[in-house]
Amino acid sequence: MERSTIVRVHEGLHARPATRFVKLAKGFESDVELVKDGKAVSAKSSVKLMLLAVKENQEVTVRANGADAIEALEALIGYLENPRAGLDDEAEAQSPANDAGQEAAPAPGFVPAAPDGANRLRGVAASEGFAIGPAFAHFPPDIAGRGRVLRAEEIEGEIDRFRTAVGAVQARMDLALAQDSLSAGDRGIVAALRDIAADDSLTGEAEGLIKGGNDAVSAVITAASTIAAEFSAVDDHYLNARADDVHAVGRQICLVLLGQDDISLENIPEGAILIADDIGAWDLARAPLKRIGGVVCGHGGATSHIAIIARSHGIPAVLGLGGQVNALRTAREVALDGNTGHVIIDPDAATRADFAGRVEAAAKERAGLTIFKTVTPKLADGRIIEIAANIGSLEEIEAAQEAGAMGIGLFRTELLFMRHMHLPSEDMQAETYAALAKAFAPYPVIVRTLDIGGDKPIAGIEFPDEENPFLGWRGIRMCLDRSDIFKRQLRALLRAAVHGNIKVMLPMVSDLSEVRQTRVLVDECTAELKAEGVPHASFDLGVMIETPAAVLIAPALAKEVAFFSIGTNDLTQYIMAADRLNPTVAKLNDVTNPAVMSAIEMTAKAGVAAGIMVGMCGEAAGRPDLIATFVKMGLTELSMSPASIQRAKKAIMAMAAEG
Ligand code: PEP
Ligand code: MG
Repeated sequence: MERSTIVRVHEGLHARPATRFVKLAKGFESDVELVKDGKAVSAKSSVKLMLLAVKENQEVTVRANGADAIEALEALIGYLENPRAGLDDEAEAQSPANDAGQEAAPAPGFVPAAPDGANRLRGVAASEGFAIGPAFAHFPPDIAGRGRVLRAEEIEGEIDRFRTAVGAVQARMDLALAQDSLSAGDRGIVAALRDIAADDSLTGEAEGLIKGGNDAVSAVITAASTIAAEFSAVDDHYLNARADDVHAVGRQICLVLLGQDDISLENIPEGAILIADDIGAWDLARAPLKRIGGVVCGHGGATSHIAIIARSHGIPAVLGLGGQVNALRTAREVALDGNTGHVIIDPDAATRADFAGRVEAAAKERAGLTIFKTVTPKLADGRIIEIAANIGSLEEIEAAQEAGAMGIGLFRTELLFMRHMHLPSEDMQAETYAALAKAFAPYPVIVRTLDIGGDKPIAGIEFPDEENPFLGWRGIRMCLDRSDIFKRQLRALLRAAVHGNIKVMLPMVSDLSEVRQTRVLVDECTAELKAEGVPHASFDLGVMIETPAAVLIAPALAKEVAFFSIGTNDLTQYIMAADRLNPTVAKLNDVTNPAVMSAIEMTAKAGVAAGIMVGMCGEAAGRPDLIATFVKMGLTELSMSPASIQRAKKAIMAMAAEG
């Protein structure tokens, strides 16, 4: 018995959805298969399902054979068509941050790996910051099987040994997941590994090999390589990265089989630079991360789990050095620059002093500023200046909170759209915005609607070829022409507004009609949600002031919106007619140019006169040398990268002290 349908699962049957689908399938006695393009796999294996690479909007067939085939078909087709209906507790508890593809936040300044001199190497700048410290080379020996064919009477015992080892690894991972100390991001990573360890694909492949006479360790190594190679071959970055996970799980099983201690990073000295060809996410997530000064790896890139863990724990990292990493095996000391991807082996006295100085200066500044984390900066007249964070993904919430952000002044939604192969669904967006709102309530979370153009094309939107994409079909212009995409985002925002203080702002506004048209769409979305009985709440609508036109019509705009947020990055490039990405005109791209400062002042005046909030979310908002000027102009909210928050609060307090 079979039925075909179009898959409506956002992103397709990636990691977590695959696991949920398998959980559902396993609830039925029947044999269940999923068929795509003529290829059928068991619906009871999440690894096999992931490897089928089923994408959103593709047609698949569910086949069931057994006593409860009708019920199985109904439930599984139901899930594929409406994945949110009937989600179990586990699924609900999954933070969107743990979902497939969510963890690929790009680190700044990626550079290609390239040799750079005798004791200098260059790899991928995967996590920013400077570090210098003793080298801690971590090159665990390769694991090898016995390499002899088992006798027939040995096979059953070997299978038992193998199953016990798999059980031990699963139990160890369950234990890790049960610990409160695991951060949300690390928990998602360990959960993904546990899924692989619990999956029939790896274990089934290995058991098949044992039955053929392989010893368990050899069987696991071969099985892991086979499955990892399949993940590597799929045309999907997220699935490619799962190859490393399969190897990591295989290695854990082998270590238990060999009775060897788990590879331990426990003895890593304080401040040491961890050097490895590859570090399993499982090993790194459990390592004493606070003691690790930096990470240098042969493997890994922007989207690898090592990069994500390093970034979320503030550990500078250079990855993807390839074979060059072997030059570090005998290093005594290593200096690394996570902003440029440089690694220096046994630095000379001058380099050592330079790095030590940078690390110390950064640490000293950080330590001196921490007292400002909980400060609510007030001016002498009692007015509060809100210091908020600019972020682009849920993974950055922790850093923003740690810094003492008073809400989010700019959530760039582009990343949500860029990191996926398809346009993000309304549900997925609503979950993301709601998670943000909850994390910062009662502080506001200002979500900027999609600001994307031909310079950064994304899957699912066809951009025309444009001579000047920065002057073209981007931001609000594109959104108003593609109301299908825009309404999905607005509906998600209305739904998320139930969970906290969501505000919405429009990018690239240059005409009043853009605000008015948006309001019409918001009203339409509100009416739809009401008719559908979906919980929703209204939000404040504001605009970014980042085009000269917006500055010039600011008094009229101020009557139509609840707030302004000045986007100095674009405003500077448009006022000065100097491409913000072109180094040749970088000198003109200066926010302190009187032309730009005057535009900021005009905006502030218009906003203050209309009694609406005026904030700033361009890079200039975090500049301590300009903060006092902006505040004096009447700005009451400044939003910046989390790293600048405490410094900005200090600047306001200094202003207040001066009176
Ligand atoms: C700006 O233009 O100042 C801004 C904050 O937006 P973005 O840098 O994302 O264009
Ligand atoms: Mg901008």
